[in-house]
Amino acid sequence: MQRSELLERVTIGLHAEIDLDPGWWWNRGLQYGTLEYWKAYEKAMESEARDLQEFIRDHRSRDGYGINIVREYKMICKFCGYEYPDDYNGILDCCNDAINAEQENIKALVNE
Ligand SMILES: [Zn+2]
Repeated sequence: MQRSELLERVTIGLHAEIDLDPGWWWNRGLQYGTLEYWKAYEKAMESEARDLQEFIRDHRSRDGYGINIVREYKMICKFCGYEYPDDYNGILDCCNDAINAEQENIKALVNE
């Protein structure tokens, strides 16, 4: 039997996403991709979701609707921005600042 005959794609969960447009004004002066940019964007999206939720609440027949902000994360060094895997559990060694911070942490553990 072919692999395609052995496997079937089945749906096991469904959810809907909604596109929100928080407007162009919220990120004035913030450079795309910076931590400040993403924090401001997250706030703007949360605020927009609350506004739309209020709008839906005014239309009682749609009470069951909800708006969830789906977030994507990555783990980055706060000193140099190096990207680590989500489940990374090892020593941070991307830059001198991270290495120094790790050594401080180890010292603190030893002194406890
Ligand atoms: Zn680093």
